[in-house]
Amino acid sequence: MPLDPLTDEQREIRDLIRELARERIAPRAHDIDNSAEFPWDVVELYRENDIFGMLYDEEYGGIGASALMTLVAIEEVSKVCATSGLIIAAQELGSLGIKLAGTDEQKERFLPRLASGEWLAAYALTEPGSGSDSAAMRSTARRDRDAYVVNGGKRFITNAGVAHVYIVFAKTDPTEGHSGISAFVVEADTPGFGVGRIEPKMGIKGSTTGEVFFDDCRIPANNLLGEEGEGFKVAMQILDRSRPGIGAQGLGLAQGATDYALEYAKSRETMGKPIAEHQLIGGMLADMETKCEAARGLLYRCGQMIDDGVDGSELTKISAMAKLYCTDVAMEVTTDAVQILGGYGYIQEYPVERMMRDAKITQIYEGTNQIQRLVIARQMLKEQRAFLLAGVS
Ligand SMILES: Cc1cc2nc3c(=O)[nH]c(=O)nc-3n(C[C@H](O)[C@H](O)[C@H](O)COP(=O)(O)OP(=O)(O)OC[C@H]3O[C@@H](n4cnc5c(N)ncnc54)[C@H](O)[C@@H]3O)c2cc1C
Repeated sequence: MPLDPLTDEQREIRDLIRELARERIAPRAHDIDNSAEFPWDVVELYRENDIFGMLYDEEYGGIGASALMTLVAIEEVSKVCATSGLIIAAQELGSLGIKLAGTDEQKERFLPRLASGEWLAAYALTEPGSGSDSAAMRSTARRDRDAYVVNGGKRFITNAGVAHVYIVFAKTDPTEGHSGISAFVVEADTPGFGVGRIEPKMGIKGSTTGEVFFDDCRIPANNLLGEEGEGFKVAMQILDRSRPGIGAQGLGLAQGATDYALEYAKSRETMGKPIAEHQLIGGMLADMETKCEAARGLLYRCGQMIDDGVDGSELTKISAMAKLYCTDVAMEVTTDAVQILGGYGYIQEYPVERMMRDAKITQIYEGTNQIQRLVIARQMLKEQRAFLLAGVS
């Protein structure tokens, strides 16, 4: 009896993606990490197999898969290659602004080429002086007749240099905090847009992370998403729906590392028996598997809630919980997998070394896990609960 809530049809799709990941992506994972080059061949594989199409409705050329199935796809791919899992998650992150706040005209203009994978997308919120504190951003967008003139720069942008479409947040009213921020679509071929340094980094090495800058970058006024001043709201609505994708990446890493450590522990012998039969190792494996299953329960519940149309503070809370728990599990479990492999776990030839490095970022991006805890606690404080403690009123 499977523990997951998937229907037979969803399980069939999952199995197809699992096969694609094992046969076509797993053999590339080591080289993608080693070369730190963006894997365009994986993008091509996604294009051929309509993987990007899962993220978009049929009317825009997609296949309209559910949010739950998108999470399952990211999980399956991340079991073997977290960089390749991130390509799906980043495409969703960079498209959600248009899907949630775009006009019909904007959707028709941008979504079909994102659905086919001809264009990749990026989400550009972070700046050198503003990560967790996005209201401190300095990039500006000044209205000038039928255009906005954007100036400033963004840092640590996933897909910098490979994306065609960037969802950019800038202040239309620099005297205001959150309420001065607006959201825009910026195409990479717009004069005044440029890509700066691409960062060398600890993990997810095949994914580009870089600076983008705007130097009197003039974008059409009809590239504004929503109303002026609504950018922060749009940014947060996007994160409510994209954070579970990072949870799925974390869960994939954790399950991939557990599966590898289990196989290793069955074949590696010390003191006359497989290490899996030493109770301390068996106990670690049991904890790893249990954490993965608990994380999956929370993540899939979150996916189902998105599909059921749950919105607002309820979604904010469950999505932060799914991101927080799955990614903390990713770090714990991949670290344990390295421990189970002993010295071999520390050697690059074995994938758990890469998985542990890849796992770390999942606790940091799309809001650090400290920020997720703040978000969850803030929602808890707003909730009305029946008090169980005598004397508390
Ligand atoms: C590989 C990579 C890819 C990324 N991709 C993108 C992307 O595509 N788009 C994008 O916009 N950004 C992206 N980022 C940026 C990422 O989201 C930020 O780095 C992250 O949100 C943290 O911001 P910061 O680095 O400025 O850290 P800071 O905000 O300076 O935080 C530093 C530390 O202080 C803690 N902290 C901060 N405020 C509080 C608080 N109030 N309470 C408790 N602790 C707090 C943080 O948790 C952290 O531990 C990416 C980053 C990396 C490394």
